[in-house]
Amino acid sequence: MKYDAIVIGAGVGGLAAALKLSASGKKVLVIERQPIPGGCATAFTRKGFTFESAMHCIGTLGPDGEVRSFLEEFGIDKMVDFIELKDFCRIIYPEHDFVVDFSKENFLNFLKEKFPQECQNIDKLFLRLDKFYKQFDNFCLSKLPLVLQLILSPLIYPEIIKLSSLTVAELLGKYLKDEKIKSIIADLWRFVGVPPSALSAFYFLIILRAYYFEKTCYVKGGYSQLFRKIAKKIEENGSEIKYNTAVKTIVTEKNRVKGVITDKGEEFFAKTIISNANAIETLSELIDNAGIREKYSNEITSLEKSVSVFQVYLGLTVPAKTLGMRNFMISLNTSYDHDKSFRDSISAERDNCLIEIVDHAQLDSSLAPQGKGTLLIMTFDSYKNWEGLTDEEYRQKKKSLADKLIKRAEKLLPGLSQRIELMEVATPKTMYRYTLSPEGAIYGFAHSVKQSGIFRLSQETCIKGLFLAGAWTRPGAGVHACFISGLDAAELALKRK
Ligand SMILES: Cc1cc2nc3c(=O)[nH]c(=O)nc-3n(C[C@H](O)[C@H](O)[C@H](O)COP(=O)(O)OP(=O)(O)OC[C@H]3O[C@@H](n4cnc5c(N)ncnc54)[C@H](O)[C@@H]3O)c2cc1C
Repeated sequence: MKYDAIVIGAGVGGLAAALKLSASGKKVLVIERQPIPGGCATAFTRKGFTFESAMHCIGTLGPDGEVRSFLEEFGIDKMVDFIELKDFCRIIYPEHDFVVDFSKENFLNFLKEKFPQECQNIDKLFLRLDKFYKQFDNFCLSKLPLVLQLILSPLIYPEIIKLSSLTVAELLGKYLKDEKIKSIIADLWRFVGVPPSALSAFYFLIILRAYYFEKTCYVKGGYSQLFRKIAKKIEENGSEIKYNTAVKTIVTEKNRVKGVITDKGEEFFAKTIISNANAIETLSELIDNAGIREKYSNEITSLEKSVSVFQVYLGLTVPAKTLGMRNFMISLNTSYDHDKSFRDSISAERDNCLIEIVDHAQLDSSLAPQGKGTLLIMTFDSYKNWEGLTDEEYRQKKKSLADKLIKRAEKLLPGLSQRIELMEVATPKTMYRYTLSPEGAIYGFAHSVKQSGIFRLSQETCIKGLFLAGAWTRPGAGVHACFISGLDAAELALKRK
């Protein structure tokens, strides 16, 4: 069978690419190994409790947000119901406890009230950030070709250039003295999984504005509804989605894509292939040309993968709100030292790891049976912690770490352990099993300075007609970025035809 384009994987990047191509009149075939769309952004239901498999919060889904505008462009916004969030997160440190409510003014007032000696420095820092955001917006809106923009960037976007070479710790260190205020401002590192000492300031600032200062929404029935509706729209546009099917080979001829072969031995042909499968699998396993696979393997094995995650999903006999969960999301820190929290998360220890607690049923009570609630408790983790265990050891380790996290959450939510009706646990191995992401990495390549912005793996490959979309490529991880990635990959494909 012949198509205009084949998209491998129906994660966010793959769906966004297929949506744009199909809306442009192209006949697209999406091939997804799972039975449902969404990739990481799916949900599962147990005994009437519905859980987000991965997603905690999607930014810029509010009426003026960028992801919402993408949905509007393709008419998806009319297919789901949005629930406005009243705040983003309650953030707890040993000596500070505050709520980020999308108001920059409130955030700055909090910082100035708690750190009066840093008032002027806070103003200077945020003036610098404003300058960066202005240049970044101009960069995004510019109609100049990317190559020209990059050549001219030292002249027209000096702030982007400067901040692209800094870590978050270096940026904050230029303005602030108190280690505690630096940690508080950097709290959002947990949405990228790289501690501030290594995290790209460029990527951090983009997500900081999107999550902290732009209103966003939840989706009735769960975020997965959004991705189901996008899949529906792709089919309504005359394209096809094949589930339960994995691509095994990308067939090339004279350095151009020709088609794919699936695990069922079917062959499909197209001059454009957009791969939303992870970049390592795509470039070093799927391509049929051994020389190209080897070239990419060498390049890609030197890149650092992001962290993985450990998640506990709880079905509660009461809404979590009745236990004291006043906000839908809590970031709980036992220390101001994020490097230590990160090390603790990926070591076997976990006594001081960061934990995040999320109550989606607080936003949409239909996610739990009437009068009941849900809760998600998450910390970072490393695949290495789960290797070489027998089934029994694996089961016991899961239970013991889950109990540890529940105990910590219980200090904040008294009585929690007595209210658990159902528990499911996901480890880095689970992350790998569902997405094939190497070592269960949840954010593609780590967002260090060297792997963010223009340094991130390009969406274009050395094979004509083969493009990448998703967290491993530009602009990076998170639903917002993966949407952009998919749309950009489609745009590149449309231009190259
Ligand atoms: C635990 C966790 C929490 C997160 N929290 C948030 C959050 O709160 N907010 C946020 O914005 N982001 C969050 N993220 C990140 C976000 O989920 C991801 O960045 C994003 O969903 C990745 O999308 P993607 O396009 O890269 O595709 P993926 O989700 O990686 O999907 C790729 C798809 O390709 C399929 N596939 C792979 N190989 C093949 C093959 N050979 N043939 C066919 N199909 C194949 C897979 O089955 C999968 O469906 C979180 C991630 C995790 C794991």
